[in-house]
Amino acid sequence: MELTGWVKNYEWGRRGISSAVAQLAMANDPDFTLDDEETYAEMWMGTHICGVSVVKETGETLDRVLKSDLPYLFKVLSINKALSIQVHPNKCEAERLHQERPEIYKDPNHKPELAIALTPFKALCGFMPPEDIRDYVDEFQPLSQLLGKEAVDQLHESPNAESVKVCYEQLMKSDASEISKCIADIAKNYQKELKFNELLDVFNSVNADFPGDVGVLSLFFLNLLHLQPGEAIYLGANEIHAYLDGDCVECMACSDNVIRAGLTPKYKDVEQLLDSVNFVGVHPDLKKFMPFRVDEQVQVYIPPVSDFAVISLKIQHSLKTYKLQIQPYGSILIVLNGVRTLRLKTQAGPKEIVVSRGSIVYIPVESAPEVEFAKAEDCDEDFTGYIASFNYFRVA
Ligand SMILES: [Zn+2]
Repeated sequence: MELTGWVKNYEWGRRGISSAVAQLAMANDPDFTLDDEETYAEMWMGTHICGVSVVKETGETLDRVLKSDLPYLFKVLSINKALSIQVHPNKCEAERLHQERPEIYKDPNHKPELAIALTPFKALCGFMPPEDIRDYVDEFQPLSQLLGKEAVDQLHESPNAESVKVCYEQLMKSDASEISKCIADIAKNYQKELKFNELLDVFNSVNADFPGDVGVLSLFFLNLLHLQPGEAIYLGANEIHAYLDGDCVECMACSDNVIRAGLTPKYKDVEQLLDSVNFVGVHPDLKKFMPFRVDEQVQVYIPPVSDFAVISLKIQHSLKTYKLQIQPYGSILIVLNGVRTLRLKTQAGPKEIVVSRGSIVYIPVESAPEVEFAKAEDCDEDFTGYIASFNYFRVA
């Protein structure tokens, strides 16, 4: 079944054709009309009620055809402006939050997520080691003053998750006017230090998009990651993060539960975030999530949850055919480059579809144990794409 994804035009998305979401939507759907002034932020692939995919052939929604929901939600994101600083609750917390405040926490599910860069990608992810935070606090005196002597002394005496928590709480609970004064002071008097620490560009751009927002100062607490295409981060429950810039594919448990605390015009739940978040800091290199290589063509990103896994495909154009081994679970393929003839089995029998950039295909349960990617006419480009599925790799 070929699908059309659901495009979301949030204002933080990239504009016009510069957005990977717009490029893929255009390639996917001949009826898609591009507006150069419009922002294209996300494309959703799956059965989530807020953006369910449509079966091209019949116009039916995927959830109606499957008569059930997929355990995961697959997305392409195209980011021009930082997304909110956030954590996602674990399953237990999600159930409680949904019960207590269903208007904010819309479902009772957890939302672990995996982001794989499509273009150079910047994100904040988890706390830095406490010694690094201490050094920043010392170097940027306005921040030290904002946090106050008591909190800073504690960070010096015992740099650990506990003292980082004290400092971060102090920051998040500071007066809005004090926060914006601190940011203005750093912006004015600490250009050299920001540049030396390779924070100048990101400090300026986040401050331009969210002037005076407490999230700007989170740059001195959280790991700033620069991902190259194919590199990934995994965000488990209570892992603080913010995507800043770039295009990625993202897969997550089918949920929309977000606890926000900065860089957003949306509702901030600072108390809940401070209650949930994991303050244990690690070096940024340890934040990159490494895939498992199956063979020359396939790598799999296997998170520590059962809801989803992501298969990365790269089939050299010279290769006549490639047979991908799969388990009997419904999967979604998105093609990024190249052309191949996809051979699979469906309830109605064997099927062949030519797929190319922008194609989104639901691979049904009946296709197991393999789908074939055969060489198509006149294509000298390598074939690349991603497949989201239930995490049967973990069960196995
Ligand atoms: Zn998130």
